Amino acid sequence: MTRRIRKVCRTLAGHKVDALLVTHPVNCRYLTGFVSSNPYLLITASGDSLFLTDSRYIEAAEKQVEADAVRLLGKDAFKSIADALKGRRVRRLGFEADHLSHARALKLIEALGARKCKPLIGVVESVRAVKEPGEIAAIRKAIRLSERGFRHILPLLRPGVRERDIAIELEFFVMANGADALAFDTIVAFGPGSSVPHHATGRRRLRDTDVVLIDWGAHVRGYTSDLTRTLLPPRMPRRTRDMYHVVAAARRAAIARIRPRARRSAPDTAARRVIEAAGHGERFTHSLGHGIGLDVHEQPGLSGRAKGTLRAGMVLTVEPGIYVPGRLGVRIEDDVLVTPAGCEVLSRLPTHARPWG
Ligand code: ZN
Ligand code: ZN
Repeated sequence: MTRRIRKVCRTLAGHKVDALLVTHPVNCRYLTGFVSSNPYLLITASGDSLFLTDSRYIEAAEKQVEADAVRLLGKDAFKSIADALKGRRVRRLGFEADHLSHARALKLIEALGARKCKPLIGVVESVRAVKEPGEIAAIRKAIRLSERGFRHILPLLRPGVRERDIAIELEFFVMANGADALAFDTIVAFGPGSSVPHHATGRRRLRDTDVVLIDWGAHVRGYTSDLTRTLLPPRMPRRTRDMYHVVAAARRAAIARIRPRARRSAPDTAARRVIEAAGHGERFTHSLGHGIGLDVHEQPGLSGRAKGTLRAGMVLTVEPGIYVPGRLGVRIEDDVLVTPAGCEVLSRLPTHARPWG
């Protein structure tokens, strides 16, 4: 039994199931080290694990999967699961309700009977939330590479360049220098586009009165970074710079609240207080941040409503922002590791107010 599978096994009794069916490819990758778009991992509370996948992956799976046994899926995947359960004395099987479509869940229930199946949410995700040293090392690599990419595109920010040109150049740089994938479609927003937190990068040309907001990330060895920097226009009204300082102060206030056993809601509340005090409360329209790891959005969420506490080993984004619709937005996003003594900001790009160009 691998260490990670053992961690999940230990939680099964608390969920009142004696086995778990993992169907989310990222969770399967985390637990078995194997990447497949069609994985089924069966884990029993006693620590038994069986990995099933289809013919496209089976040869590689037999060599690489870290599980007790590997089996080829039959034509009907859920009949294969039912067959695998025979002789394993499983009375209740948990399944990943947030990673199984309604149609597939119905098939599972049809194959096993409704009383045997229990929908669960976040079982593997809560184990993933606390990173091992090797995972943190991969996240650090992803951040360093992303930061190099950002420095690479800085000299290209000149009036007339298009958002798309910058995004493509940044993406090419990180892919050419060791990323396995991009974390998401790079957001490059000039001027009014920056007021939309998830702006779709387009063909707008840069003007010397535009703020430049770039939100980007890359996967290295499976693990991701997620950073945002906002650069101010060379010619700008004072209130734009003031707004930037408010976001920077909110970022500091949030980071000061990140430590083991702190309430998960505390950093968001601290950042929001700073932004509200400056009169922009309505303009900080999203939550403060989220966990990163194999996924770019994972546990723990950092909203003001989040329950529970922070633990050493969690890696979080801190990304306060102020958005003035139709005009501009400012966001600063860093990646922060919760350490036994407090926290460490993993990203190193400067955060002070500075103009592009
Ligand atoms: Zn981001
Ligand atoms: Zn983010």
